[in-house]
Amino acid sequence: MGCSNTNEEPKFQRSNKRRVTQSKNKDIRKSYEFISMLGNGSFGKVRLYRDRNYKDLLFAIKTLKKEGIPPYQFSLLKSEVTILSNLDHPNIVKYFGTFEDESYIHIVMEYLKGHDLDKIITLKKYTGFDEKNMCQIIQQLLKALSFIHSKNIIHRDIKPENILFSNKKNYSSLKLIDFGLATFSKQDHKSVGTPFYMSPETIEGNSCVQSDIWSVGVIVYQMLTGKLPFESDEKYSNEDLYKKIKNDEYNKEYLADIDCSEEAKDFIDKSLQKDVSLRLNTQEALNHPWIHKFCEKKIETDLVNNDSIKILLEFARKTPLQKEIYYFIAKVSNENDISSLKKFFNQFDIHNMGSLTYEEIKEGFQRNGLEIEEDILEEIFEGLDFHKVGKINYSNFLSAMISSNNYEKNEKLESVFNLLKENETHKNYITFESL
Ligand code: ATP
Repeated sequence: MGCSNTNEEPKFQRSNKRRVTQSKNKDIRKSYEFISMLGNGSFGKVRLYRDRNYKDLLFAIKTLKKEGIPPYQFSLLKSEVTILSNLDHPNIVKYFGTFEDESYIHIVMEYLKGHDLDKIITLKKYTGFDEKNMCQIIQQLLKALSFIHSKNIIHRDIKPENILFSNKKNYSSLKLIDFGLATFSKQDHKSVGTPFYMSPETIEGNSCVQSDIWSVGVIVYQMLTGKLPFESDEKYSNEDLYKKIKNDEYNKEYLADIDCSEEAKDFIDKSLQKDVSLRLNTQEALNHPWIHKFCEKKIETDLVNNDSIKILLEFARKTPLQKEIYYFIAKVSNENDISSLKKFFNQFDIHNMGSLTYEEIKEGFQRNGLEIEEDILEEIFEGLDFHKVGKINYSNFLSAMISSNNYEKNEKLESVFNLLKENETHKNYITFESL
């Protein structure tokens, strides 16, 4: 059975011009200094740059040449920028803006220092993958997917190369990248993706949010066995592989020899269902016994306390200008600086939606034995929802937490001013001149 896509209208704005952004022509070398090459994708090159004014700030910039981009790919590119600029989640690469000139488009993103999952799988071939680590990785990936699927966005290119980590030390900072093939579930779909990770319905050009879960199933299989569930010897065509994905059972032989939990095998089985109606969706995947067994959600009761209420309330009472400054500091802060704040956010985000509703804030405090008067709670909620989206997004929440820390160092503020000056997406709220 195929996908039944929802009819909900995408909420993001689009423009039909042969430009990706509204930004003025700009030479990125004036703001950023080239450091090294990071990757060479099929759509463009990704390079590491340093902010010329604030040397500690590093960015990954994906550059694409406009010339010769066929209309379909151009629309994908527009889609990538539109989608990325509207995603704010701890497990999705942060987006800072897009520069465009006559010939090139430059997408500025956070720099991720760690390995990609493909490299990690290769390294683990010799030592084996601990199921707990594996589960920790997949849970973060599912959280990112749960967030985008709730917005009716399908990634369509879930594969180990598009799963990066902020650092090499642990697996707790997963970031999903490359929204170059992402699309809204309502739109007409072409058969796109990376063949080994494509679901049967994606091959038919009819992808839906569960198509991403199929790819997750392939990745779990690969992490456990070091092999792929569907393989083909054909070098120059994918026809044989596509036929197997559509018609055959996945290869269970490799799995039979693996010493792993029954829950892991069940997770794979339920993710690699050809019939979409039998396949897990993201919420079911997050609630699967395999995830529960190895990634029990820890409620750290000492994290949320009366001081937290004070911090959030004080932030809620700040001026719009102060909030925007903290918002930018939150955006440019590196993962190590904010790891404890991320844990704090997760204490409230128990439904793994990547943003917080009024009820979730209330329940978060209640779980920690804190009863707050409704009018205070309302003031906190409205004060943190300063972009007026009806819920508290991840970076808005971080802004409040950061305001309590000693982040107001001059040099950090200076770089924030530079970003404010350059960032077109926020010119509705604040400009450098107005500062
Ligand atoms: P693909 O051929 O997979 O479709 P693409 O042209 O869409 O590639 P990306 O997948 O976005 O490009 O990036 C290509 C490579 O650049 C990645 O595999 C990764 O190694 C590197 N890269 C991308 N984004 C970042 C980042 N934010 N930080 C560090 N490295 C990155």
